Amino acid sequence: MSEWFAGIDLGGTSIGAAAATRDGRMLAEETVPTCSHEGPKAVLQRIGDLIDRLSARCGAPPKSIGVGVPGLVDLASGATKFLPNLPTQWRDVPVREVLSRRFCVPIGVLNDCRTATLGELAFGHGRTVRTFALFALGTGVGGGVVIDGRLRLGPLGSAGELGHQTIIPGGPLCGCGNRGCLEAVASGPAITAEGVRLLLSGQAPGLHALVDGEVNRVSPQTIADAATAGDAGSRSIIERTAEYLAVAAANVVTALHPEMIVVAGGVAEMGELLLAPVRRGIRERVRMFPADDVRVEKSQLGDDAGVRGAVALAIQTLESS
Ligand SMILES: [Zn+2]
Repeated sequence: MSEWFAGIDLGGTSIGAAAATRDGRMLAEETVPTCSHEGPKAVLQRIGDLIDRLSARCGAPPKSIGVGVPGLVDLASGATKFLPNLPTQWRDVPVREVLSRRFCVPIGVLNDCRTATLGELAFGHGRTVRTFALFALGTGVGGGVVIDGRLRLGPLGSAGELGHQTIIPGGPLCGCGNRGCLEAVASGPAITAEGVRLLLSGQAPGLHALVDGEVNRVSPQTIADAATAGDAGSRSIIERTAEYLAVAAANVVTALHPEMIVVAGGVAEMGELLLAPVRRGIRERVRMFPADDVRVEKSQLGDDAGVRGAVALAIQTLESS
């Protein structure tokens, strides 16, 4: 059996696992519920069992393991410091140490958005561009920055938290404690909330018709569908989201002059409906140098970004061990 790498994407509701070759070819994948209420010990046991099953299917143990987690990690020890969306918030859970007792291979643990950025670097747009910033728009807004072919981590692994730039001073409260962060105004829930407001106030009749007036069917995707079908209210939501994202992206372009802004996560599925106004918005705001050459593109990894990123982390961890 040829060498393979294990990528684990720990999420609040599910754990994704993948076995892949060095060039990113998927050999096996599996997803299980996190059952986070059972606590860190049981969740880590479940992750270990997942890796065992992948090993059985691949006929050998992995060369290394990468684990993406939704929060802050101590890079040196591989312990989680703060996973806000999991019960007990996983303060000082020694993830690497626990898994090392079971698997005698190098193990990397990293924030999930930085992990997805590593995946984009290894298997996506990073194959053709050297400097890019990634915005991951989903339930939250995360990100990562690659400069000259290297993921910028900073001392805490937190460099690239692009979703927590202030976009509206004094704006809506963000989960991080600040007000007016990009996450507070352009995440999936923020977009959905605005859709519900317009639907209930009669300002999005096309959206109302599309979801039969059922507010729990309003989502970034149904809002995008209504906008495409000509609903002016839905279109205004997307234009506003694009403007917020353009402000954040223009700030990054001014600071780094990257070759590309990569947009990932569920909200990115809107595609050109969102990306075209973001391109315009960046050009309007970056005036100190021509920014026409800065591309704005959807991630090339799609639904697999989490586990593919974790595979990239596993490979990088082996190479640096
Ligand atoms: Zn924030």
